[in-house]
Amino acid sequence: MTAVLVINSGSSSFKYQLIEMDAETTLARGLVERIGADESHVTHEVVSQNGSEEYEQARSIRNHTEGFAVMLDAFREHGPSLDEHAPVAVGHRVVHGGKRFFEPTIITDLVRINIEDLAEIAPLHNPANVQGIEAAQKSFPDIPHVAVFDTAFHQTLPPAAYTYAIDKDVAEKHRIRKYGFHGTSHKFVSEEAARFLERDIADLNQIVLHLGNGASMTAVRGGESVETSMGFTPLEGLVMGTRSGDIDPAVLVHLHHKANLSVDELDDLLNRQSGIYGLSGLKDMRDLTDEANEGNDTARAALDVYVHRLKQYLGGYFFQLGRVDVIAFTAGIGENSAQVRAEALAGLENFGVKVDAARNEQRSHDTRVISADDSDVTVLVVPTNEELEIARQTLSVV
Ligand code: ADP
Repeated sequence: MTAVLVINSGSSSFKYQLIEMDAETTLARGLVERIGADESHVTHEVVSQNGSEEYEQARSIRNHTEGFAVMLDAFREHGPSLDEHAPVAVGHRVVHGGKRFFEPTIITDLVRINIEDLAEIAPLHNPANVQGIEAAQKSFPDIPHVAVFDTAFHQTLPPAAYTYAIDKDVAEKHRIRKYGFHGTSHKFVSEEAARFLERDIADLNQIVLHLGNGASMTAVRGGESVETSMGFTPLEGLVMGTRSGDIDPAVLVHLHHKANLSVDELDDLLNRQSGIYGLSGLKDMRDLTDEANEGNDTARAALDVYVHRLKQYLGGYFFQLGRVDVIAFTAGIGENSAQVRAEALAGLENFGVKVDAARNEQRSHDTRVISADDSDVTVLVVPTNEELEIARQTLSVV
C-alpha cells in the first residue's frame, strides 16, 4: 500500500489528510487550528469503510512544529498506524508559484527559499505555506516533500489573457500579471468531467465554476486553462463570500482621498468586508438563499449581484472558447446550491444550455449530469477533491 500525506497550511492552522493511493481512499483527515492562541483546537477523523470517527481536543499549541507533534500523537492514539500506512511523501498545497513553478516540485532548500521569495506577491499565503513545510520536514525528515501550486494549472494562459493593460515596465518590475488560483481544483474537475463523460479531454471545451467561499471560473480548452477569473491575487473576478471580486480600481483612489481609508483599511474592505457579506451581512450562501426566498429584499439584491457576475463571466468564456461542451459546477456552493446553479444558467437556452430542473434538485456526492438530454452543452456537478489531486501530483514526481 502506498500512502501520501497532504498538508494545507495557513498562518494559524493546518489541515492534513492521509490518502491511500492504490484505491485513492482517505484513511484519516484532520485540522489543527488557532495555533498560537491560548487554546488551540485539534480535530482528527479516522475514516473507514464502516464510517468515520472524530476525535477532538483543545490544548495549547505554540507553533506549527508543535502542531505536527500533536498530529502524530493523534495518529498514534487513534490510528491509523503510521507504521502500517507510512506515507511515501508529503504533498503541500502552496498558493503561489509565480512564473517559476508550473509543476509539482520536490522541495529542496532552494525551492523553499524561492517559495518564500514569492511572499512579495503572496504575503497572506506563501509565508504560511512555508511554515507548514518547515514543520512537516521536521516531523517527516526521511521522505520527499512536494509542493503543488494553486497557480500551476494556469501557466498555460496566453499572454493576451494574463497581461494587464498597464505600463509594461512597471508590470515587469513588480511581477504584475494575472496568475489565477484554485488551479488544483480546476484541473481535477475538468479531468473528472472528461473521465465521467468517457471523452478525451483534448476534445473538450469546458467552463469550470469553483464556487466556495472563494470563487473562480476557468475556461479550459483541451485540458488547458486559457482564461480564469482570479488575477494577480485571489481577489479579482467573481463575487465571493467576503471578497468583492471585480471593482473599478479608481474606487480605491476615491475612497483613499474622500473617506480617508488607509491602504490596510482598503485591503480589509475588499477582502473581508465585501462580497455577499458586505452586501447582505450574511456570509453563508445557505443563509443568503433562505433569506432571499423568504422575501428579504437585501438578501435578494445580493444574490442578484452574485448571479449577474456569474453570467457576465460565463458569457465572456463562451466567446473566448467559441464552443462550449461542458459547464461544470464545483465546491461548496457549486456542489450544493441547486438554486445558484439554476439562476446562473436561466435563460441560456438560445446558447444551447438547458438545465433539467429535477436533475438539478437531486442531491448526491457523486459526479452527475444536470442538463436536459437535448441540451447542446452538458452541465455537470463535479465534487472537487483538491487533497486527492495534490496527492496524485505528489506521487507523480517521487
Ligand atoms: P472554501 O472556499 O472555504 O473551501 P467551500 O467550498 O467549503 O468553501 O464552500 C463554502 C460555501 O458553500 C459557503 O458559502 C456555504 O454556504 C456553501 N454551501 C455549503 N452547503 C450548501 C448548501 N447546501 N446550499 C448552499 N450553499 C452551501
